[in-house]
Amino acid sequence: MPVVLPAEVVASHYTRKAHSRLLLIAPPNSYRTVAYLESARQQGVDVLVASEGKHSLVGEIASGLHVDLSSPDALDILLDADRDRPFSGVVATDDTTVELGSRIAQALDLPHNEPQAARNSRYKQLSRQALADAGVPVPDFRVVNLCGDVAGQCTGISFPCVVKPLSLSASRGVIRADNREELLSACARVEAILAGEDMSDACLRSQVLVESFVSGPEVALEGLLYQGELAVLAIFDKPDPLQGPYFEETYYVTPSRHEVALQQQIIATVKAACAGMGLREGPVHAEVRLAGSGCVIIEVASRTIGGECARLLAFGTGHSLEALVIAHAVGNPLAIRPPEGAAGVLMIPIQRAGILRRIEGITAARAVPFIEDILISIREGYELVPLPEGSSYLGFMFACSATPEQVEAALRAAHDQLTVVVGPLLKIEDRRPLQG
Ligand code: ADP
Ligand code: CA
Repeated sequence: MPVVLPAEVVASHYTRKAHSRLLLIAPPNSYRTVAYLESARQQGVDVLVASEGKHSLVGEIASGLHVDLSSPDALDILLDADRDRPFSGVVATDDTTVELGSRIAQALDLPHNEPQAARNSRYKQLSRQALADAGVPVPDFRVVNLCGDVAGQCTGISFPCVVKPLSLSASRGVIRADNREELLSACARVEAILAGEDMSDACLRSQVLVESFVSGPEVALEGLLYQGELAVLAIFDKPDPLQGPYFEETYYVTPSRHEVALQQQIIATVKAACAGMGLREGPVHAEVRLAGSGCVIIEVASRTIGGECARLLAFGTGHSLEALVIAHAVGNPLAIRPPEGAAGVLMIPIQRAGILRRIEGITAARAVPFIEDILISIREGYELVPLPEGSSYLGFMFACSATPEQVEAALRAAHDQLTVVVGPLLKIEDRRPLQG
């Protein structure tokens, strides 16, 4: 499947700048900050990191500005920083900051999405509505207010359905329900998850989306928008069926093994979705289900793919995803090379709750042919929380080879080498007084 390459075509529309300065808006624990800083350094781009974190890990490479990103003053503070030394581009790393990023870039006349488009991509109910209005296929959906009569609002829903929070990510709180009883218990479970979240907007805590379950294989598409034109960086197959009740991401393998005509439909659907949501610039992470009736959009986010998966793009396009995003943001877009070979990742799932004692077999897993790297993200002694409450993976395994079949087989073989030893979680209330 050829990669669509509008970057070279549209490069002439952007004004090249000699000394670029990037505003990187990143929540405190954004896992992508370091990768962005490294790419910026390689491109000779200065960076100001705007973050709520008090401790900067970036001292020598970039300067940092401590800002409460959810405060109404954040916009003015960052525009002041531009007056001191102008920015040539703005990148918001995560869903929670894309709207602020678009407001700043709009005010400075830099490549941006309209703030409403960024907002649409951040809140699932707005995204669903914008897409439905634009005639782009999405599941049937309704918003249910958890503070109201939930049972009453759940009448007339057909099953199976899916309950999900309006703005969490990584499949957190996404639960399939096959009947009314499961639906009501899923709503209660999501309500408990939301109660533990630090959310500025009360609506996000009290509402969920209930939508029809779309069956069929799922793919993810990573792309970059250049003045409304979508450059497709990769289509990832998700070879494990995602049937629920929880939707753990596991394998992502590119290039896609779906027929070229179907891949073209996937691209066309994502393009229509971006247009329908008003997205025109910057990274896009989309998820599409291949239903019997055609492609159905599950998600379109105006940010890069989550976790460590962005690394996979470097195997394909010749540039890291962060390098492509920065180059686009500062108006010096890089040409994208068609990918060679195949690459994949396994997001190592957390299968059991408890305390991580140890992971055995990592050396053997690394020795599996075509395995490029294995990262373990949770340290021994830390708590493992599976979906739907959890929000992290045990780690990531990367593979690269000539074909997607070899990549998938390598990841499965490497995963088979791992034994995750989990100890019980000792809750305080479980402790019995010692018998004397
Ligand atoms: P998040 O933003 O947390 O990733 P998503 O809306 O993308 O939430 O849902 C996570 C996963 O749940 C999807 O990748 C998909 O596998 C599954 N899913 C979500 N909504 C539906 C749906 N309506 N039909 C079928 N599967 C769904
Ligand atoms: Ca998703």
